Amino acid sequence: METGEYYPGREVFDEVIMSVYAPAPFIPVTGEGSRVWDRQGNMYIDFAGGIAVTALGHCHPALVSVLKNQCERLWHVSNVFTNEPALLLARQLIAATFAERVLFMNSGTEANETAFKLARRWAITRHNPYKTKIIAFHNAFHGRSLFTVSVGGQSKYSDGFGPKPADIVHVPFNDLHAVQAVMDSHTCAVVVEPIQGEGGLTAAEADFLRGLRALCDKHQALLVFDEVQCGMGRTGELFAYMHYGVTPDILTSAKALGGGFPVSAVLTTADIASSFHVGSHGSTYGGNPLACAVALKALEIINTPQVLQGVQRKRQRFIAHLQQIGEQFDVFCEMRGMGLLVGAVLSSPYRGRAGELVNIAAESGVAILSAGSDVLRFAPSLIISDDEIEEGMRRFAQAIERFIQG
Ligand SMILES: *Cc1c(COP(=O)(O)O)cnc(C)c1O
Repeated sequence: METGEYYPGREVFDEVIMSVYAPAPFIPVTGEGSRVWDRQGNMYIDFAGGIAVTALGHCHPALVSVLKNQCERLWHVSNVFTNEPALLLARQLIAATFAERVLFMNSGTEANETAFKLARRWAITRHNPYKTKIIAFHNAFHGRSLFTVSVGGQSKYSDGFGPKPADIVHVPFNDLHAVQAVMDSHTCAVVVEPIQGEGGLTAAEADFLRGLRALCDKHQALLVFDEVQCGMGRTGELFAYMHYGVTPDILTSAKALGGGFPVSAVLTTADIASSFHVGSHGSTYGGNPLACAVALKALEIINTPQVLQGVQRKRQRFIAHLQQIGEQFDVFCEMRGMGLLVGAVLSSPYRGRAGELVNIAAESGVAILSAGSDVLRFAPSLIISDDEIEEGMRRFAQAIERFIQG
């Protein structure tokens, strides 16, 4: 950049941005692979992956290339027209999954909002106007619009905004009896994250998902998997449902789908999709050519044995380091998650202090995440190098040492 230009510092954030976030003291300005740099030239290892978004690291050359190419061709045409990247991406998603129809949106929230509206419309038109109950789970996270945050199971996010959308019931995760107790012919959908992301990285038990599938079939309700965080290669399969062998009726994808470019998708069958007609739903930017071109390339790269098998190997490397650090400092009591969604649960003396540790880690030059106040979360690039893992873990061990010493 030219000299003499003005560069805002972190303190400007508090003056100009609404305080719904409390970002780290440093400002990343460039990235490559799983490293980012601030303007002062300090390097940080990125174990956070933009919260499970930058699945191919920062500025992956193949993504940069398709984005440059597309941005010199066509940026936006609106849904009055269709566009080639959207058609190609939809075809690839259908070829790779259970889906027969796709609808593109721009964020996880919008994909879930779409999925819930679709489930309600399906139940109302195919069955009766009272079949509207949505069953969801404690600690679930599905987004921040009033509908999605109300389906989510964390009242700290959904309270304080006035009346919530009606007919949503929450029961404990991994508790099939609890679902059975509230499920009836008025249920239109069961909504579940196969691995709870924000809620603490708890993975569903296979029997639980199989049981949900059976209950949905019995009561003619739709099974909706929110794979916004756990999908797109995170578990070592393209989608987590493949790992479990349980097929949903509707699946939502976002985060890693665009590798950092905002895009999301709702996947479903042709039959369920037919409950939406022209005008039923929409989005100005959904299916934008720039977003779809990038996502098409990301899908092509992620959905290869090379990348997916690498996820399992890298998880083992993460777990080995975390167990070693855990033993050395006696800080962790459990490892959670699947693939490169790794959760380290703080042992009881350190409960509630995950946020503090995230800050100390950033000061030590490694970006990590929390999932609630008791769990450290690692959601790095799926192609993070062994060198980057080693260097990041060296810094993380230093952070833990500083944390323990107070
Ligand atoms: C992040 C997330 C969302 C919300 O996605 P946005 O893109 O932030 O709207 C929804 N569901 C899950 C499981 C998520 O992890």
